[in-house]
Amino acid sequence: MATLWRYALAAAGAGRFGTGMAKTAATTTQARTSPVQEKPAKPKPAETRPAKAKPPRTPKPTLAERLPASAAPEEGPAGTPPSAASLWREARNAAARARLEKSLPAVFPLPVLRHALSRPLVPPTPRLAVESYWRHHILRADRLARALAAASGQPEGWTWRLGTWTPEDRRLDKRRRGKAVEDLSEAALAEKGLAFSFRMPPAPFREGPFARGKGHCCICGQPVYRFGWHRDLWGTGTPNRNAAWHAACVTAWKFWIAPADHVKELKRRQGHRCAQSGKRLLKTAEVDHRVPLYRIWREERARPWPELLGYWGLPNLQVVNRAVHADKCAAEAGERASVRRRTDLEEGSVRLDSPEISKARDPLSRVGEG
Ligand SMILES: [Zn+2]
Repeated sequence: MATLWRYALAAAGAGRFGTGMAKTAATTTQARTSPVQEKPAKPKPAETRPAKAKPPRTPKPTLAERLPASAAPEEGPAGTPPSAASLWREARNAAARARLEKSLPAVFPLPVLRHALSRPLVPPTPRLAVESYWRHHILRADRLARALAAASGQPEGWTWRLGTWTPEDRRLDKRRRGKAVEDLSEAALAEKGLAFSFRMPPAPFREGPFARGKGHCCICGQPVYRFGWHRDLWGTGTPNRNAAWHAACVTAWKFWIAPADHVKELKRRQGHRCAQSGKRLLKTAEVDHRVPLYRIWREERARPWPELLGYWGLPNLQVVNRAVHADKCAAEAGERASVRRRTDLEEGSVRLDSPEISKARDPLSRVGEG
């Protein structure tokens, strides 16, 4: 445990906390805090910034002014002396709060700030505060990302396609990455950004021909503002050209591709009851897509894009007990197998009306995945 704290301390130090406690750790901090070091170039920002940046600005509200209630220091149980860990945390959080306060713009979403200051380890930068906020509000991020996608709508001419490249082709092309787009083979260009499995949510704005460029979210297509925020709270009028995604959308994306990582939130939402049997959820309960993803690919593919995302999000997710899930998967595997046999038969004799659909199998999927 002690080494863990030290590691965390080193990481905090590497994040350039100018406090004495970080001296023992990273060498990067030494350069900044050690009195032995001469000051050729490093200290410049610290000395020049206040002189030229501060006077024209209007005074920013302090953390205590923004959130009076949360400014009170935390206190342990009465009578007990603080442990070394809590002393360390207090010192670390004081430094983090100071750093956050310094870099916080006058306008900043209050719920995010409230969340940041209530963390056991206060995030030291506004961006980390925003990321932490969404990480802890995963279902809200899911809803927001889908709402933003709905605002963008399906790009003209887009259809949900999967990459047909083999992994070898892909590896070959990766070596050429970083070179001019013209250097990419035609096949590579056409397939740029395409997922190789229907387990991945379709993302038109990640695909070459539909990408909206800098300052726009590659997941939802909407403009991205400071700190990966989705609304222009600062009235800049232009998106942040260095940003390629919203903090909320990245969180949602992670949720969509690995919902099992968030079984706790989903269980809580269901009142710890199995969505199929109504019985109490056991520890081994699993996350399941109500409508299995292979059926989305097979039957619902033509639905408009933002609507499709709902199949990866909360509306299509449920937590069920393992035995129930196993039965459901077995039934789905049987159904898939019979469809496959039928199409194989039909392909052997008469062609289907829509050969794409019968042929379009996900190369990476396995039987039993729901
Ligand atoms: Zn987005």
